[in-house]
Amino acid sequence: MKIVRVGRGSWGVVEGEVIRITRGPGGNYTGKRLPLSEAKLLPPAKPTKIVCVGRNYHKHAKEMGEEIPKEPGLFLKAPNALAAPGSSIPYPPFTKSLHYEGELAVVIGRRMHRVPEENALSYVLGYTCALDLTARDVQKTDLQWIRAKSADGFCPLGPWVETALDPRDLRLRTFVNGEVRQDARTSAMIFSIPFLLSYVSSFMTLEPGDVLLTGTPEGVGELKPGDEVAVEIEGIGKLSVRIAPAS
Ligand code: MG
Repeated sequence: MKIVRVGRGSWGVVEGEVIRITRGPGGNYTGKRLPLSEAKLLPPAKPTKIVCVGRNYHKHAKEMGEEIPKEPGLFLKAPNALAAPGSSIPYPPFTKSLHYEGELAVVIGRRMHRVPEENALSYVLGYTCALDLTARDVQKTDLQWIRAKSADGFCPLGPWVETALDPRDLRLRTFVNGEVRQDARTSAMIFSIPFLLSYVSSFMTLEPGDVLLTGTPEGVGELKPGDEVAVEIEGIGKLSVRIAPAS
């Protein structure tokens, strides 16, 4: 099932070229339908927080000149960072080094509190594509990563949450202006999704709609105003946004 949020915040399910409106994510059908091509898609989750993992792919840790971590290196993005599929994100004036990081995102379906690894996936609603936009220069100079990682629009998410998917070995590609910049498989993650969910839930309760960004593979790089950036994940689809001129 492909769960979307559309228009002013209605939930729906994509069936071919049609969206069937539902009561809540994956809920009952209301009887309303609209063509997918005419729908204004919103981020397909309403998180209270977005938990992110840095350095979760061996080759990305290496390109950043860092050791392979022994424990997950976590940070947060706040919900203000969410951006819709197809949106235009202004290049922020405080940075000279805006980077893309294509990532697989996990959306929580049921409240998670101290859940063991072996049960963790049963709490997942589904999976979607995310861009962990990062101001690389201020990431190095600010005390914490709030500005570098959680500025408005720094977490494009979508286009929908795919509920029927095994996340362990999916091809993930990031494109800038149609050119492939990242091409890796989720099987190359250092910490698995069940481990990460269990680890986070051991100290932080995860609520339905909360999002886990699972880290980016190698090949991160710069974006410029006017760039079109897209993340495509096998079994899900493609999330595209545009970087608008500074404002
Ligand atoms: Mg990242």
